[in-house]
Amino acid sequence: MARTIIAGNWKMNHGPKETQQFLSNLSDKYFDKPNVEAVVCPPFISLPIFQEKVPKWLSSGAQNMYFEESGAFTGEISPKMLADLGVKYVIIGHSERRGLFNEKDDDVNKKVRIALKYGLIPIICVGETENERDNNKTFEVVERQVKKAICDTVKETLKCLVFAYEPVWAIGTGKASSGKDAEEVCEKIRGVLSSMGDLNQANEIPILYGGSVKPENLEEYLSQPNINGALVGGKSLDANSFSELLDLA
Ligand code: PEP
Repeated sequence: MARTIIAGNWKMNHGPKETQQFLSNLSDKYFDKPNVEAVVCPPFISLPIFQEKVPKWLSSGAQNMYFEESGAFTGEISPKMLADLGVKYVIIGHSERRGLFNEKDDDVNKKVRIALKYGLIPIICVGETENERDNNKTFEVVERQVKKAICDTVKETLKCLVFAYEPVWAIGTGKASSGKDAEEVCEKIRGVLSSMGDLNQANEIPILYGGSVKPENLEEYLSQPNINGALVGGKSLDANSFSELLDLA
């Protein structure tokens, strides 16, 4: 059975000062539930202070990284740098990276492979646009994104992956998917993973739902058999709403 993960994606919010404030607002909350992990992914510039002040029960993640170790890639951050800092997770292929920064399935694959090499756990985001959904392409798009993201990764590393199903039309819009619809796609993702490895391995991979998750709808997702948590943007920015989500997990 896959572990449950509640992961916050701060996007381009919370510099070092606000990160410190978030952590001090969180200081009276202690979270310890078996098989549930809490993760926050601050911007790169806030990761060092986050790593320094983070309580033991909370894990860290980056929101992106480049697919090379080092070199002439002005403005980029490498997986080696993240691993040296002790960062545990890295979000790869978020729809904002794919849509606004033109990241392709091939870039996602390169990032996944080098993340695994450095012991970082990729949170691989997949999901269809509104137009693709309207044209009944959801399964096709998601299957392609999953397969391409992990092609040429060895079977044994499958257990080190996390997926997030994030329908693009639901991100930051307040138009969350229904639990039933999200479950159908997450079941499909698990089926694809199972066909690429084996069923036991596929059952161990956490598949998160993301897209306008809030305390009022989280339980609807967590009650689905193939949804093992949430990737949360807006509602992870405030320590109180983030810990409210953790309490519900
Ligand atoms: C996200 O950033 O991945 C996300 C799902 O954002 P929100 O929860 O704000 O929709």
